[in-house]
Amino acid sequence: PAGRVPLMAGNWKMNLDHLQGTHLVQKLDWTLKDAKHDHAAVEVAVLPPFTDLRSVQTLVEGDQLELKYGAQDLSPHTSGAYTGDISGAFLAKLGCTYVAVGHSERRDGHGETDEVVAAKVKAAYAHGLTPILCCGEGLEVRREGGQVAHVVAQLRAALDGVTPEQAASVVIAYEPIWAIGTGEVATPDDAQEVCAAIRSLLAELYGADIADGVRVLYGGSVKANNVAAIMAQEDVDGALVGGASIDPAEFASICRYRD
Ligand code: PEP
Repeated sequence: PAGRVPLMAGNWKMNLDHLQGTHLVQKLDWTLKDAKHDHAAVEVAVLPPFTDLRSVQTLVEGDQLELKYGAQDLSPHTSGAYTGDISGAFLAKLGCTYVAVGHSERRDGHGETDEVVAAKVKAAYAHGLTPILCCGEGLEVRREGGQVAHVVAQLRAALDGVTPEQAASVVIAYEPIWAIGTGEVATPDDAQEVCAAIRSLLAELYGADIADGVRVLYGGSVKANNVAAIMAQEDVDGALVGGASIDPAEFASICRYRD
């Protein structure tokens, strides 16, 4: 994909406590080192539960691992009376590079509206974190052929007020909801159609130069055996991987999709 460094990001969801998470990161790192993985050629990141982040930080900084890490969500607020929420400031302090924002499981399970997602995107930037901004349509919308319009509307709302400088570093993840955790993968053409439309929207909002540099990931039942066909698409610059990311051998194979 045209000069963009692919990103493979593993969303662990609510799996693996901090001890299990430490083991996974070690195994992933060993596997990638065995394969002489070049992190500058394909970037690898993990998004563990909040409670694992301190342990992952210790491991990554202590052993100088090249893996990046981040969180699965953040509060739109910096501090205060928001019981149970986690500030982007705390994530930055733990060395997080990324934070997922607007995952469909947050939108559906926690009532996150486009406005909340937009506020979280701004909070990520305010704390120096790179948002992995998730979007994607449900099955009904897909059946009616409304996927592009749906995703474009979600992103217009989520990027409201985001400056060109900020947008230059955003990562967008296109995740059709009907393909998440279902084993149902979008075809490479389906993924390309929406990822290309996302890039066109970015060009309209921020200009072609910025749009050409932004990484657009696909997510939805990505596995070692289907990743290469998806990555062959011009506008797909990586994957957001759920289920397959908690198996270190499988996730390492996904990261090594060029082998
Ligand atoms: C996800 O959680 O972002 C995801 C794509 O999950 P899965 O790979 O399990 O479909």
